[in-house]
Amino acid sequence: MKEGIEAKLVGSNPARQSIYARLSSGTNEKALVLLNHIDVVPVAANEWTEPPFSGLRSGGYIWGRGALDMKSIGIAELMAVIDLKRRRTPLRRDIIFLGVADEELGGLHGCKELLETHPELFANVGYVLNEGGYNETWAERAAFWGIEVQQKVPLFLRIQVKGFSGHSASPPNDGGTLSKLIDTLEAVEKIPTPYRVTPAVARYFAILGAFKNDYKGEALRALSKKLDLNRVKVLPDGYRSLLQRLPLAVARYDRHHADSRRRLHELLAADRDGGRRHSPSRR
Ligand SMILES: [Zn+2]
Repeated sequence: MKEGIEAKLVGSNPARQSIYARLSSGTNEKALVLLNHIDVVPVAANEWTEPPFSGLRSGGYIWGRGALDMKSIGIAELMAVIDLKRRRTPLRRDIIFLGVADEELGGLHGCKELLETHPELFANVGYVLNEGGYNETWAERAAFWGIEVQQKVPLFLRIQVKGFSGHSASPPNDGGTLSKLIDTLEAVEKIPTPYRVTPAVARYFAILGAFKNDYKGEALRALSKKLDLNRVKVLPDGYRSLLQRLPLAVARYDRHHADSRRRLHELLAADRDGGRRHSPSRR
């Protein structure tokens, strides 16, 4: 690279390459990854008032698919790395810049592939900074740059039911597979996904709450001290989700399959044992 930072493209698919660079510190401290994704979701160009890949600057905005998600952060991370290099800042730990392909497609040729096929790239990594968190604007001015301090653990469930599908004009007596599927979804929907306030989120809410004079600020400040379901309810989804350990995402659950049943129960048991909690939380 022009700045004298050694960088390389990695990935098996020439059309879906990721970019990796590591600033070496010479210490054994756990490395920090500045992670971003360089792909974007598709565009329907006719829905755009400006060309979606133009990067046009107009009216105080940059117009482009991915400007928010997440080229802005990618560029900020890149500039941070360049700045460290230009200033010859002595580093306490290695800093890794990683712009990955395919985040919008489940990381297939991005994070997933790199972790599986290039574990050496992540040697001695201890920390990752990535996208997430709400920014808030008041009258078009940034009032608050959000830093999300807690991540959720999604539980993906794929549901399979077996039986006769039948015809809609003459369905089987028991309702057939569709009815079994609905029963299962109902059971999944009833699984409690409890709330808890971790110390990191409590601190985040306290600081954020101090910025707000409205009911949200009041809820955030109160929740930073004590879990209260009535206050949880008034929070926007983005903040509320930080209180959840286990958002259920249904992708695979076979109630006749011991493995899925065991995995589900393990996760729920782990959740019951861990930290402060309250249930049920499903809205
Ligand atoms: Zn993103």
